[in-house]
Amino acid sequence: NKQVILRDYVTGFPKESDMQLVTAATTELKLPEGSNGVLVKNLYLSCDPYMRGRMTKREPGSYVGCFVPGSPITGYGVAKVLESGDPKFKEGDFVWGMTGWEEYSLITATQALFKIHDIDVPLSYYTGILGMPGITAYAGFHEVCSPKKGETVFVSAASGAVGQLVGQFAKLLGCCVVGSAGSKEKVDLLRNKFGFDEAFNYKEEPNLDAALKRYFPEGIDIYFENVGGKMLDAVLLNMRMNGRIAICGMISQYNLEQTEGVHNLMSLISKQVRMQGFVAFSYYHLYGKFLETVLPAIKEGKIIYVEDVVEGLESAPGALAGLFAGRNVGKQVVLVSRD
Ligand code: NDP
Repeated sequence: NKQVILRDYVTGFPKESDMQLVTAATTELKLPEGSNGVLVKNLYLSCDPYMRGRMTKREPGSYVGCFVPGSPITGYGVAKVLESGDPKFKEGDFVWGMTGWEEYSLITATQALFKIHDIDVPLSYYTGILGMPGITAYAGFHEVCSPKKGETVFVSAASGAVGQLVGQFAKLLGCCVVGSAGSKEKVDLLRNKFGFDEAFNYKEEPNLDAALKRYFPEGIDIYFENVGGKMLDAVLLNMRMNGRIAICGMISQYNLEQTEGVHNLMSLISKQVRMQGFVAFSYYHLYGKFLETVLPAIKEGKIIYVEDVVEGLESAPGALAGLFAGRNVGKQVVLVSRD
C-alpha cells in the first residue's frame, strides 16, 4: 500500500519535500473481523488549502486536528468500497469524504462518507464541484452572503475550486461579478469560460484600492473572501452600504508566522457592512438540496467546471504545495486510480 506521509511539522510555505511517498509494511488489506468501517480503494484525492493548517502542530481543540508526522496525510477523496462492515455501504459503491493519501484506506469514521449516487459525471467532480468545495461555494454564497439579483459581487482567488463556482452562482442569480486571480491564463478563464463580467490579475495591480474603484465605481455589495491580507483591506474601502463579506478563507496568511494586520475595519461601521466567517461542514445538511440544483446545471452546461488533475500518488506532494504558489489552474485533484 503506497502512502504519502508528512515527514515533520511545517513552518512557512509547504514544500514537496515535507511529504514523502513510502510503501507501508502491512501485508494484508482486509477489513478486521467485526469492524463497522469500510475498506476502500482510493481513486481521486483532493488538494485543499486548509490542509496547510493541519501541517502545523496545533493545540487540541482547533477545528480540524493536525496530521501526525510519519503517518499518511488525510483529506477529502473519492474511493471505491472493497469491503464494508457498515450497512450503509456495500462492495462496489463509490463514496466521497475523508480518506487517506494512500492506495487503500481502512475508514472507521464512516459518518464522514457520502455515497455517490450519480456517476453520469466524472467521479473526480466529487472532490470539488460536487464535494466539499462545491458546498462551500453554494452555502457561502447563498446562505452567508444573502445575495440579491443585480448586486455587485467580488470574488478573490476566483479561478480556484471555490471561486469559479461562487462567480457562476452569482451570475446565475443575475449579479454583476468581478474576480481576481494571479495569472493571465486564469484571468482569461474567468472572463471567457466562467462568464465573469470582469477579471483582473492582482499581481499586476500596484494599488488594489484603485483597481477595485475601477471595476466597482459604485462599490461592492458582496465580497467573497478567499485570500485575506491586503486584498481584504482594499475591499473594506470599497464596500457599499449594507454590504456583506463572507470570510471563506485567507490563503495569503496561511504560511505566515504572524498574520498581517487589517487596517480598514472601521469602514464596517459607517457602511453597516456584515462580515461573517463560515465553515463548509456546518452546511452539509444542505447537500441533498445542493445536488438537486448543481447536478442538472452541470449536465445542462449552465455551470462550467475546470479541474487541474495530476496523475499518481507521487505527484500529490507537489500538487498540494503548488496551491500556495498558485500553480493550480482550477480545482487541484490527484488521480490515484481510474477504477
Ligand atoms: P484554490 O483552488 O483557489 O487554490 C488556491 C489558490 O489561491 C491558488 O491557485 C492561488 O491562485 C491563490 N493564492 C495562493 N496564494 C495566494 C496569495 N498569497 N494571495 C492571493 N492568492 C493566493 O483553492 P480553493 O478554492 O480550494 O480554496 C479557496 C479558499 O477557500 C481558500 O482560502 C480556502 O482555505 C478556503 N476554503 C474555505 C472553506 C471553508 O469551509 N471555510 C472550505 C474550502 C475552502 P492565484 O493564482 O489566483 O493567486
